[in-house]
Amino acid sequence: MDVIVDPNDVHVKPFVEFYGDEEVQALRQWMREYTWDSNSSLRTNLENAFGVPLPREDCLAARPDDASEECPICYCTELELAPGKVEVLSAICMKCKKGYHPSCIREYLDTGIADCPNCYEPFVYATNPS
Ligand SMILES: [Zn+2]
Ligand SMILES: [Zn+2]
Repeated sequence: MDVIVDPNDVHVKPFVEFYGDEEVQALRQWMREYTWDSNSSLRTNLENAFGVPLPREDCLAARPDDASEECPICYCTELELAPGKVEVLSAICMKCKKGYHPSCIREYLDTGIADCPNCYEPFVYATNPS
């Protein structure tokens, strides 16, 4: 996917090009229908347009080659919340045993969705002290 931002006005909707055939039709459609919010960042707009969070800036260790060990919400293994304060995948889904960052899962549940993003069962989790 290419995002081409107008250097003269970074707040207008950028030109977004998707590569692929049928599988990207929905993305193209969403982008066409999405009303760009010029008061929000490019990042926020893209997240709203596609309905998925982008990898977070505070990601310390991303291991895209090993998806089993990353948080399914932020796609990172470790998050640095503050200098020296690192969060690991310590919130564990009781059903599928998938690990999440406690801050990611709190943010996720705050959106009103009550299902585990991994197994789609009602989310009940245990937190291991880290
Ligand atoms: Zn996370
Ligand atoms: Zn689960």
